[in-house]
Amino acid sequence: MFFNPDGIGAGIKKQIEEFAAGADVIEVGAVTQAGDGIVRVSGLPGVMSGELLEMECGTRAIALNLDSGSIGAVLMGSDAQVKEGDLVRATGRVAEVPVGDGLLGRVVNALGQPIDGKGEIPYTATRKIERVAPGVIERQEIGRPLQTGIKAIDVLVPIGRGQRALIIGDRQTGKTALCIDTIINQKDKDVLCIYVAIGQKASTVARIVRTLGETGAMAYTTVVAATASDSASLQYIAPYAGCAIGEEWMEAGRDVLIVYDDLSKHAVAYRALSLLLRRPPGREAYPGDVFYLHSRLLERAACLSDERGGGSMTALPVIETLEGDISAYISTNVISITDGQIYLETELFNDGIRPAVNPGFSVSRVGGAAQIKAMKRIAGPLRIELAQYRELAAFVQFGSDLSQDTLDRLRQGERIVEILKQPQYRPMPVEQQVLILYLLTNRHLADVPVKQVRKFQHDFLAFVGEYHEGITAEIKEKQLISEEMEEKIKGAIQAFKGQGSYL
Ligand code: ATP
Ligand code: MG
Repeated sequence: MFFNPDGIGAGIKKQIEEFAAGADVIEVGAVTQAGDGIVRVSGLPGVMSGELLEMECGTRAIALNLDSGSIGAVLMGSDAQVKEGDLVRATGRVAEVPVGDGLLGRVVNALGQPIDGKGEIPYTATRKIERVAPGVIERQEIGRPLQTGIKAIDVLVPIGRGQRALIIGDRQTGKTALCIDTIINQKDKDVLCIYVAIGQKASTVARIVRTLGETGAMAYTTVVAATASDSASLQYIAPYAGCAIGEEWMEAGRDVLIVYDDLSKHAVAYRALSLLLRRPPGREAYPGDVFYLHSRLLERAACLSDERGGGSMTALPVIETLEGDISAYISTNVISITDGQIYLETELFNDGIRPAVNPGFSVSRVGGAAQIKAMKRIAGPLRIELAQYRELAAFVQFGSDLSQDTLDRLRQGERIVEILKQPQYRPMPVEQQVLILYLLTNRHLADVPVKQVRKFQHDFLAFVGEYHEGITAEIKEKQLISEEMEEKIKGAIQAFKGQGSYL
């Protein structure tokens, strides 16, 4: 038998060279202080800002303060089992959430875990919850309307796809109702919706989820909930998590609508965290970076350029004011970040003008670009008539001797206000809106008593639906009212008024 000692030597040498110790180096630190959902950790010099840390008990934390010698981190779960001296491991990753169509129809927490009892969410991808917003080159101008189905908004302060429209108002003025109606109106419009509930009561969120389910809106909606009983850290990351879920769809070329309800509570949660982390308090005790907190979130809403797929994400942030004070710190911040605001007023709400949109303080910086042609033509005069009416109505309280012209304007104004009222959960398709507003601006409602105006609207739409379906179908298709169409509408209204019950 032949035997080669050189070969054996070479073989052993090669094995030694290729030998790799099977040990990974993991950085481990220790908890030096824990409490109020905050941990201080020493001994993790390589940690990134925003990195996930894992406690010995399995709870995770996000590193927010990188001080020399220690880290301040916020716990994502209960702090009951975290003790001083516990080991902490750096994961090398920042917080992520599952994304994709598996989330539609689901209710998740701020970490993207299901909380609706419907089992695991099937997903193939995750996304970082924080990301830099698309740059200037990657965007295009906003030009397509996002129909809310609410006349007062679609006419006076239209919202475009990719826009950020702030909903601002005191408590109980219908802010949430407005957002939910907008989501309900996206049925069959190829818009995916995300509702982020921040710091609300769990029962309120449950009611919203039920409403969305009953109206069939859950099929295209994801609810991200961080309720009042969740930790401040979960409330803090919830909007970013929702935004990441939306971005995945936007980058796939789809249209997304995201509601942040509300950012006042988000700022409060962030303030709590910052104070516990011993960051210096500034105005109203908010930390210095509270503007950046919201700007980096809202800047992620965009209308992407065609090269980037042409998708869009429309954001409706909600801000709650105190006694109508829109000049408070957080509200002025968010007003300056968004492309317009819809201001809801308690006084109007209590007067029964619902939705309580104040047309004076509400603006859209996108304007007519977010309206279909027919609507654009009607909206201009209507806005002026409404403004004149508001001015006159305040003035007329003092005088009784009014000219015919003033009386006409007042009559018209009363009817406009009446038509802009709309009950909850009844979004109106844009073609019906156009038809009704056409009647209004062309004085076809001038002889209908104010109290009857809404009944007239309801019955007339039903009448058109039954006998003149072509009218709404054509407005929907052509997006404008042609001269022939005007004749048809006149015919329909004559026939309807001929029935005689309103005059
Ligand atoms: P909060 O400050 O508590 O979050 P909010 O501003 O979100 O309140 P909502 O909860 O949306 O207000 O509405 C307050 C109440 O007004 C609700 O009971 C709702 O049903 C009612 N409401 C809202 N919009 C309308 C409407 N268009 N017509 C009639 N009622 C409405
Ligand atoms: Mg609300």
